[in-house]
Amino acid sequence: MKTDVLISGGGIGGLTLALKLARCGIDVTVIERLPGPSPVYKGELLQPKSLEIFDSLGVIEPVLSHGHRIAELELMELKGKRAEHSSMSYSILPGKYPYSLMIHHEKLKDILRAKGGNTPAFTIWGTPHAKRSPARRSQWKTGVKKNPLISNANSSLEQKAGVLLPVITWVLK
Ligand SMILES: Cc1cc2nc3c(=O)[nH]c(=O)nc-3n(C[C@H](O)[C@H](O)[C@H](O)COP(=O)(O)OP(=O)(O)OC[C@H]3O[C@@H](n4cnc5c(N)ncnc54)[C@H](O)[C@@H]3O)c2cc1C
Repeated sequence: MKTDVLISGGGIGGLTLALKLARCGIDVTVIERLPGPSPVYKGELLQPKSLEIFDSLGVIEPVLSHGHRIAELELMELKGKRAEHSSMSYSILPGKYPYSLMIHHEKLKDILRAKGGNTPAFTIWGTPHAKRSPARRSQWKTGVKKNPLISNANSSLEQKAGVLLPVITWVLK
């Protein structure tokens, strides 16, 4: 296989970087070990800066249309028996996106992979969503085994946090 850049891990980070490189004409290949959606909860809240990045990658329309905008957050912190309230408003921020956006993690990956599918220099290996160029078809494998390259997963923390975050997200919603 020949590629200019190999990215180990087709999470949001890997896919976003791959799209950026491919849109600059750099041949990039993403390998993903999971055969389907991640079993671990990974969060859903995109901040304004991330929205700007997705805008620059040409995926902001589907991202916004599948997301829920949050312009203000009310926070309550328990300190012993006391509850402290605070609030945060995105409206004071400059820029095109003065809000955060809740979007399902897997939906966001679908959107990025779909965009990659329309980008010639972008190839993904190892997920059922994969798209390959015809020249690479013979080299296709499903389910990439343990890769010697550095992984961008942070699993044990994810496992623990994954239990709590869906509850917090539900409360925020
Ligand atoms: C519980 C929780 C809640 C979060 N909430 C938010 C939030 O609300 N907003 C926010 O912006 N961020 C949130 N985050 C952080 C966000 O999920 C991460 O920053 C983001 O997922 C990082 O993306 P990534 O692509 O770098 O890594 P990951 O999403 O971990 O993706 C890594 C990918 O690499 C694959 N992989 C690993 N090793 C290999 C290998 N050897 N070969 C091939 N593939 C491999 C994995 O299967 C995985 O698909 C949260 C994280 C957690 C754990």
